[in-house]
Amino acid sequence: MKKGNLSSTDAVEVAIVGAGPYGLSIAAHLSARGIPFRIFGDPMSAWSKRMPKGMHLKSEGFASSLSDPDSAFTLRGFCEERGLPYADTGLPVPVKTFVSYGLEFQKRFVPALEPKTVASIRQAASGFELHLDNGETFFARRVIVAAGIVPYAHIPAPFSTLPRGFVSHSSEHSDVEKFRGQHVIVVGGGSSALDLAALLHEAGANVEVVARTSVIRFHDPPQPRSLRDRILRPTTGLGAGMQLLFYVKAPRVFRLLPRKIRLDRLRKTLGPAPGWFVRDRVVGKVPLHLGVEVSGATVQQNQVTLRLTDRQNGNQTAVADHVIAATGYRVDLERLQFLDPALRVRILTTERAPALSDTFESSVPGLYFVGVSAASTFGPLMRFAYGSDFAARHLSSHLGRLLGHSLLKGRENGHSPDLPTNLTPSY
Ligand SMILES: Cc1cc2nc3c(=O)[nH]c(=O)nc-3n(C[C@H](O)[C@H](O)[C@H](O)COP(=O)(O)OP(=O)(O)OC[C@H]3O[C@@H](n4cnc5c(N)ncnc54)[C@H](O)[C@@H]3O)c2cc1C
Repeated sequence: MKKGNLSSTDAVEVAIVGAGPYGLSIAAHLSARGIPFRIFGDPMSAWSKRMPKGMHLKSEGFASSLSDPDSAFTLRGFCEERGLPYADTGLPVPVKTFVSYGLEFQKRFVPALEPKTVASIRQAASGFELHLDNGETFFARRVIVAAGIVPYAHIPAPFSTLPRGFVSHSSEHSDVEKFRGQHVIVVGGGSSALDLAALLHEAGANVEVVARTSVIRFHDPPQPRSLRDRILRPTTGLGAGMQLLFYVKAPRVFRLLPRKIRLDRLRKTLGPAPGWFVRDRVVGKVPLHLGVEVSGATVQQNQVTLRLTDRQNGNQTAVADHVIAATGYRVDLERLQFLDPALRVRILTTERAPALSDTFESSVPGLYFVGVSAASTFGPLMRFAYGSDFAARHLSSHLGRLLGHSLLKGRENGHSPDLPTNLTPSY
């Protein structure tokens, strides 16, 4: 519908921005309740286009499913159907498998997905006015922002001032083949950095890792566990431990904790440690310069020169053809450029993330945020695909109540995928 012949009385009930694990799961649940919605986005694109081909998930198989109302189509079920290797724990999931699963989930549960980009969202008299990249404009009474992590990619100084051909963020590389024969420095000591270093090395690049941390803490591989250990450190989709159990089971209670504690817990929980399965691919194969601070970066003679401050060896320089900043993501509402500035300023924030109600609603009525944008409200669970089950059930049930749509009998309580109890998912 083009502007000119539209009115807010034609508004769709709900618009979902984003087609990753959260957007697709929420769409599946709204669909089951008969709530009218439109959903936009390139399905699973963060995984297919913004993570390196050949990467493996750190989340265990049983914790890497999208959510449908009956928990009928899990990653396990998909792998069984396709004859793909799968284990609940201990067998890293290739990103390729996860992407194929997500795309199949979309075909089965969200066939009406529109693979378009939402260019802007403005507040309107009784909802929101959305503009799509194909020029279409329409109204929605409610908007769910499920735009994921990519908009929050963070390149810190001193790299941020380098010319773009010489520096990139880790999220810009799905194919590292182009670096074959080049000298690449990967900055960072987390899983993105080490995954990329392994893949670059295997693709024939001359790669080095520079990290501030003095030790790379790889996760431990899953081990058989004693009964005592299983009781004291129960298995969850985020790993083993009482605290993680709390984050998984009680995200709504997490929201009630004092702001300072929530932010502190978020910062300290499940850092970016590389998976156990990456260790042998980098240690002894890729030079790791640890305990090193990058204090400056310049381009000279078509190469990047980094000034390094090494706690043991003093100041040094390193030269490379390209620097990849595997420097993580920072949730910051200002980075969601599709939100009209006049709308953005009306959203109350907690350290640049939207402050949300118990039903994922921001201070702008009808505007909801899920996924990593909701992590400072609902905790670490929201940073992982595993949290899509809670988000989809809780939000769709809220919207169902609001709009008078209930689920078919027997589905209301839903259930989470069964957890194996004898193994620790390493995550
Ligand atoms: C290197 C790396 C490894 C990770 N490994 C794991 C792991 O092993 N397990 C795990 O659970 N999590 C992992 N994560 C975290 C992962 O990002 C989240 O779990 C997951 O992607 C969250 O799903 P989502 O739907 O919120 O976002 P995403 O998967 O990022 O999806 C966002 C969607 O929004 C769309 N979109 C964005 N803006 C617009 C717009 N304006 N209009 C239309 N569409 C838009 C995108 O195209 C995309 O489809 C990893 C993250 C990184 C960076």
